[in-house]
Amino acid sequence: MSKFWSAAIRDLTPYVPGEQPKVTNLIKLNTNENPFPPSPAVEHALHHYDTARLTLYPDPDSTELKEALANYYGVERAQVFVGNGSDEVLAHAFMAFFRQEKPLLMPSITYSFYDVYCNLYQIDYQHIPLEDDFSVALTNYTTENGGIIFANPNAPTGRSLSLDEIEALLQRNTESVVIVDEAYVDFGAQSAVALVDKYPNVLVIQTFSKSRSLAGMRVGFAIGHTELIDGLERVKNSFNSYPLDALAQKTAVAALQDQSYFEQSVAQIITTRQWTTEQLSELGFKVIPSATNFVFAEHRFIEGAELMGYLRTNNILVRHFSRPEIDNFLRITIGTQEQMEALVACLKQHPDLG
Ligand SMILES: *Cc1c(COP(=O)(O)O)cnc(C)c1O
Repeated sequence: MSKFWSAAIRDLTPYVPGEQPKVTNLIKLNTNENPFPPSPAVEHALHHYDTARLTLYPDPDSTELKEALANYYGVERAQVFVGNGSDEVLAHAFMAFFRQEKPLLMPSITYSFYDVYCNLYQIDYQHIPLEDDFSVALTNYTTENGGIIFANPNAPTGRSLSLDEIEALLQRNTESVVIVDEAYVDFGAQSAVALVDKYPNVLVIQTFSKSRSLAGMRVGFAIGHTELIDGLERVKNSFNSYPLDALAQKTAVAALQDQSYFEQSVAQIITTRQWTTEQLSELGFKVIPSATNFVFAEHRFIEGAELMGYLRTNNILVRHFSRPEIDNFLRITIGTQEQMEALVACLKQHPDLG
């Protein structure tokens, strides 16, 4: 606390991302990054980039990238917004749509950045409890609201909703914006992009950080009705004209164009996720069915915090959340098959498991 801080920041509780260790000999399964490198097309684009162009500001509208995304998803370019990671897209969306009289509705257990943005932008919010099996029951989102946000698949639970459940919500909830955060959708859920032409109040947000192996580039995007996109552009152009640097724009286009590499790496992660789920179950874990690149699991008799510490001592990083409803769980990113074999082998060495 400093006397120089403005009142608006004194009560903030900033988001704390998973650890990015400086040492390299760790098996890093704590922040849901992709274990595979980005497409070779990304390397090619970087290698052949004319660095003289870095003297110029990048395209403030990321035209080429928006065009590529519009083609990929079968929408108009004016229905696409891009930002510096989907976290920035989310932040702009909270500012643009959720500063309303009525509260924002969101799941009680979800991406914890949503609460942080509410505090930053002074948005009143209400948590809607998850079902006992950790599913998001959209049928409970019935109260008057200034907006609704949920992640599909949800994080950190990994469970997904069907497109029908989302469409039913949109039929009931027509007077406020509904944001579907699809950071993990490529790993096994149905995208609500299919609904954007039918429902003018749905905004779908995705990222290049997970399924396209570009977390370090910071590229996220939103797809929705042009009026929603215009709202986001107003916020963006009141904040930073150039949120995406020139290399981010170039490499994102390259990654998007390599469909076969994308499909292959996603398929590999899904196969390894199934293998990991079976192995963990055999070791006495309860594993929540996952449509993502991570699993959320608790052991029948060993505590989550103790297991996290044990793995950490053995150079394997996983994520543990201390809030009481989920403090027995570990969120384990799906790495390569070899990394997951090392995880399982390490767990088998645990004195209570062998
Ligand atoms: C990883 C993640 C994001 C943020 O992704 P970036 O594009 O890297 O900012 C957003 N929402 C959820 C649910 C995530 O897990």
